[in-house]
Amino acid sequence: MLYKLFKKAQKEKWAIGHFNFSTPEQLRGIAAAAKKLASPVILATTQGEIEFLGLKEAVAQVRILEQNLQLPLFLHLDHGKNISLVKRAIDFGFDSVHFDGSSLSFKKNVKLTREIVKYAHKRKVFVEGELGYLRGESRLIKKAKPQIEKGDLTKPEEAEEFVKETRVDSLAIAIGNIHGAYFRKSKPDFERLDFERLKEIRKKTDTFLVLHGGSGILSKDLKKAIKCGIQKINVNTELRIAWKETLQKILNESEEVKPYLILPKVTLTIEKKVAKYIKLFGSCDKL
Ligand code: 13P
Repeated sequence: MLYKLFKKAQKEKWAIGHFNFSTPEQLRGIAAAAKKLASPVILATTQGEIEFLGLKEAVAQVRILEQNLQLPLFLHLDHGKNISLVKRAIDFGFDSVHFDGSSLSFKKNVKLTREIVKYAHKRKVFVEGELGYLRGESRLIKKAKPQIEKGDLTKPEEAEEFVKETRVDSLAIAIGNIHGAYFRKSKPDFERLDFERLKEIRKKTDTFLVLHGGSGILSKDLKKAIKCGIQKINVNTELRIAWKETLQKILNESEEVKPYLILPKVTLTIEKKVAKYIKLFGSCDKL
């Protein structure tokens, strides 16, 4: 089902939103937006997020929500660097895994990604590989964004070879995107994308392409990236900021102590943020 959705997105030129979560109120906010807009969404957890939440717990929460909402939801492991964790996520019922071998040599990255692809495809699980080096981390950083070096960016010829050798379903690429949201003198320091490189990569391979670091990229650039061949966009920092700011405001302004009265407001803020991205990515009514 996930593969078919990527195919549809590729053909019709829209993108599937990937949204990270580690708590129930975040998960519910993302799913509520997907339900209202009849949009596919990928619910993702990084290694850090899943260590907090638990693999089994994540699968159980997503499957129950899926039944309650009568909505297909796709659970994805984001930036899995540890082979045994990636395999456990597959065994526990994740729909999709990202093996991030981007810090390894090209050869080692190919070898380990191929191993994961074999393991996952036998169990009908979708695999995202990664090539190129992505700087930053998913948080609000009040200083200039890290300088990207040319060597960080994905080389189109390597992308072609990587996909042929590993048979990954999708590939995360580095084209000027960075994890996190950066501010210089309290103004957002937006990330600039290398669209020519993206078009070259697109020409060299027909695998699905993924843009990480969706927070901190101008909306018009996200739209252009979709036009140039991106099928999935990952967003984390923007949702983390929304979570923290909403919670902080409620806690500061009220004497309320009941979590079940406080947290629905956080869910609503997340829902609104996710809805904004779903509309931007053009994935409404695609289920
Ligand atoms: P941001 O935190 O910049 O949105 O990036 C998220 C991401 O790429 C998750 O894999």
